Amino acid sequence: MKANIKETTQKRIVIIGGGFGGLKLARQLSNSGYQIVLIDKNNYHQFQPLFYQVATSGLEPSAISFPFRKIFQKAKNIHIRIAEVIQIVPNNNQIYTSIGIINYDYLVIAIGTNTNFFGNAKLMENAIPMKSVSEALTLRNTILKNYENALIVEDNEIKKGLMNIVVVGAGPTGVEVSGTLAEMKKYILPKDYPELDFQMMQIHLLEGSSRVLGTMSEAASDKAKKYLIDIGVNVMLNARVKDYDGSIVYLEDGTTIKTNTLVWAAGVTGNKIEGLEAKIITKANRIKVDRYNKVEGYSAIFALGDIAFMTEPDYPNGHPQVAQVAIQQGRLLAKNFKIMLLNKPLKPFSYKNRGSMATIGRNKAVADLPYLKFQGFFAWIVWMFVHLMAIVGVKNRLFVFINWAWNYFTYDQSLRLIIETKKKK
Ligand SMILES: Cc1cc2nc3c(=O)[nH]c(=O)nc-3n(C[C@H](O)[C@H](O)[C@H](O)COP(=O)(O)OP(=O)(O)OC[C@H]3O[C@@H](n4cnc5c(N)ncnc54)[C@H](O)[C@@H]3O)c2cc1C
Repeated sequence: MKANIKETTQKRIVIIGGGFGGLKLARQLSNSGYQIVLIDKNNYHQFQPLFYQVATSGLEPSAISFPFRKIFQKAKNIHIRIAEVIQIVPNNNQIYTSIGIINYDYLVIAIGTNTNFFGNAKLMENAIPMKSVSEALTLRNTILKNYENALIVEDNEIKKGLMNIVVVGAGPTGVEVSGTLAEMKKYILPKDYPELDFQMMQIHLLEGSSRVLGTMSEAASDKAKKYLIDIGVNVMLNARVKDYDGSIVYLEDGTTIKTNTLVWAAGVTGNKIEGLEAKIITKANRIKVDRYNKVEGYSAIFALGDIAFMTEPDYPNGHPQVAQVAIQQGRLLAKNFKIMLLNKPLKPFSYKNRGSMATIGRNKAVADLPYLKFQGFFAWIVWMFVHLMAIVGVKNRLFVFINWAWNYFTYDQSLRLIIETKKKK
């Protein structure tokens, strides 16, 4: 099989991954003096911060996914290929992909991370991660199917398992998903399932450390915990999951919780790609790069975003794995590629932290901005504005805004549909 990309006189930059980092880089290099090949295993860019809203029936997958071909309709130098990259062969300047071999002059690895189950095979088999839009849909389907089943079982213990939800990991995703589920329990599910007793439903948020939103300020942490408890989430700190068999969660301290739905938001590890020297891969599977995003020991290979491990004086343990780092690195690397054409000195990367935020539910959010920390309604408005503006595409922005407004005024999450793909026989 051949990827079938015409050679030109322009130098070719192959970008693997069209996430926040790869997409920013490709956009900045569109109609530049390079030929760009953007490779992704999906034909769309995914807006990960809002996966939890797809999982909780608040947004359609299409509202937070955007097709690459539409983004680059006017960029003549950009060639998109939907493929999985399997191996890099640095000596030949080639990559092996599911659609054949592709040559490069420069290679940029922007493949991001995947869920880390810390080697626990049973967890991997039974828990639901949230690292792709299809996993978010799986969670939506699972919750809704469990409620349909809860209606028809008579045994109360089995019913409890179907109704309870356990979320593991109290970072922004865990906090946001459990807060939204608690709101569904309050405003929506009892109306949809009046035959069920919602006193039986419990939402547990399990966190291995001593606070929720551990990377944010103590004020944000404390307030988020209070908001979660007020809305009915059972927050369990210093709680470490040992195992999960699909119906019971076993904690290290001997506690057990009955649930058929376990959401795993407790960590990520870099996506793997063969062909680079082992000594430049960190424990978390990140690739060591210098301040120009160049992979250590390779002159034509770069890495950026979540997969890249770069240190600078303020970040001796690497940058946080957040969208802003990927976007800022993508933007600077594009600038540096353009500078390379002019044979001028490159600019080193320095991360500008714009702050972090998380929402717990309607009117409730926490925000740590560089010079200001605040919580409550205003933080919630800022959270919505920032997320809305970050979504790709005016139509998607409009759709999301209309959905949010509708859900806010009707106290409803209207997309409670079980849609599963039918496997061909
Ligand atoms: C549920 C969730 C919520 C989040 N919320 C926030 C938030 O609120 N704020 C924030 O700043 N950050 C948030 N993050 C983190 C943020 O999404 C990441 O930091 C960001 O996506 C990193 O960008 P990236 O370009 O490095 O990788 P990604 O955006 O993960 O993109 C990687 C791309 O590479 C492709 N790919 C991977 N492997 C291959 C391969 N072998 N071949 C071809 N293609 C491949 C993937 O399909 C994907 O498109 C969240 C993450 C998740 C999962």
